[in-house]
Amino acid sequence: TELVPELLPRSRRLMLLLNPCGGRGNGMQLCQTHILPMISEADISYNLIQTERQNHARELVQGIRLEEWDGIVVISGDGLLYEVINGLMERPDWEDAIKMPVGILPCGSGNALAGSINYNAGFDQALGSELLLNCILLLCRGTVIPMDLVSVTTCSGIRSFSFLSIAWGFISDVDIESEKYRHMGSARFTVGTMVRVASLRTYRGRLSYLPALDAHRPICRSITLSPNGSLAPFQRSQLHRTVSDFGLCEERNVMYKRSSTNLDTSELPSFETSPSPGSPTAYHTSSFNFDTLSDDTPEPMLSKDIKLPRHHQVNGPKDDVLPPLGKPLPKNYITVEDNFVLVLAIYQTHLGADLFTAPFSSFDDGLIHLFFVKAGISRAALVRLFLAMEKGTHFETECPYLTHVPVRAFRLEPLTRKGILTVDGERVEYGPIQGQIHKGLSNLIAG
Ligand code: ADP
Ligand code: MG
Repeated sequence: TELVPELLPRSRRLMLLLNPCGGRGNGMQLCQTHILPMISEADISYNLIQTERQNHARELVQGIRLEEWDGIVVISGDGLLYEVINGLMERPDWEDAIKMPVGILPCGSGNALAGSINYNAGFDQALGSELLLNCILLLCRGTVIPMDLVSVTTCSGIRSFSFLSIAWGFISDVDIESEKYRHMGSARFTVGTMVRVASLRTYRGRLSYLPALDAHRPICRSITLSPNGSLAPFQRSQLHRTVSDFGLCEERNVMYKRSSTNLDTSELPSFETSPSPGSPTAYHTSSFNFDTLSDDTPEPMLSKDIKLPRHHQVNGPKDDVLPPLGKPLPKNYITVEDNFVLVLAIYQTHLGADLFTAPFSSFDDGLIHLFFVKAGISRAALVRLFLAMEKGTHFETECPYLTHVPVRAFRLEPLTRKGILTVDGERVEYGPIQGQIHKGLSNLIAG
C-alpha cells in the first residue's frame, strides 16, 4: 500500500515565546543548549519568537490563527504566561482561544507553574536546569489537562485572568521589592524574604470570602498512614486534599494530626481553633537575631512614579457568585477585618519552584486556596513558616496566626493607604481587588 502523507499524524506545531529578560537573562542560551535540541528530537515543529518588550506576547497571541498552532509555550517566568492568557482572553473569539493549550519552560525567576507541573508529574522538587529538563520532557510528552483560571477585578474595574496567585502584604512586597536582585535568579526571593522579615509590616484590611463548602463532595473518613508515622509526599498531599475537602470554616487553622496507625479525619472539624499564641522564640541565623529588631511598621518603600504594566479589559465568563466591586456581597460571604501580615490567594501547588505552598491544590479543583497570616506573628514564626514551605510542611508548625480556607471567590479591601498587590507575580493597581474561580477554563500542557 502507498503511504499517503496526509494520513500520517502531522507533527505538533508550537509557538515558543522567549523572554530574553526573564530570570537571569539566559533564556536564549538555555534554548540553544537544552530546549531546541530536545523538542526537535521529539518531532515537534516550532516558531521561536523573542519578545521585545512588555505586552509584546499579549499582542502577538491576539493576532494568531488558532488552527495553525497546537500550543503556545512561554520560555520565561510566570509573568509571560499571564500576558499570553490575557491576550487570548482579549480576543473576540476568547471562548475558543482560551482552549489553546499553553505551556511553560522555566527560564524566569518566578517559576511557580513549572514547579506545580513538575510536582503533578511525580518528579522530586527541582530548581534550575533540573526543573527545566523535567518540564521539557513533559512538554514533549504533551498531555493537555484543564486548568482553572481566576477572574480578577481591580479597583478601576479592569478585569484580567490569573492562573497562579493574588498576593498582598509580605509576599507581594518581597516579589516586587526583590526585582532589584533579579541577577540572582530565584535566590532573589530568599534575600527579599530576609530583608522584609527584618522590617516586618502589617496591613489593615477587610477580607471577605465565599467558602467552598460543598456538601456533595465525598469525605474520606480515615487515612491509614505508614506505621512509622512518616508520610510519603504522595500520602501527604492526599491527606492535605482530604483535610481541605472539609472546607474548613472561618478563622480555623487547617491542622491534622499524625498518628502511628490511623488518622480519623472525622475529628477534624472539632480541632482546636484558637491555640495559645506561641511564645516568641529567638531565631538565630549567623548571629542575626530577628526578635531584637523593633516592631514598628515602616511605610512601604515605594517611589511615586512606578510604572504599572498596562492592563486591558478582557472578556470572559460572567462572575456568577461575585457581585461587581462596590456592590455589597451576599450573606453567604464571611468577612474578617483585621491587621494582616499577608493575604494570599493561590490556585497552584507551588508559589515558587521551591515554595510548596498549597500541597492539596490541583490544576482543576475549582478552588481558590485562601491563606492569611494575621499580625502578631513573631518574626521567628514567620521565618519558620517560610522555611517549612519548601517541603510543604508549614501546617505542621501549627502556627495560630496562619489560616487556610478553600473558597470560590473573595474580595480584599485594603485599609492601609499604601501597599503592593500582585497578580501572578505582576504588580497591579493598589486598592480593592476581588476574584472568582472559573473551573477548567484553560488548557495546560502538563505532560
Ligand atoms: P521573571 O520570572 O524573571 O519575572 P517573567 O516571565 O515573569 O520572568 O517576565 C517578567 C516581565 O518581563 C513580564 O512582565 C514581561 O511582560 C516582561 N517582558 C517580556 N519580554 C520583555 C522584554 N523583551 N523586555 C523587557 N521586559 C519583557
Ligand atoms: Mg515574574
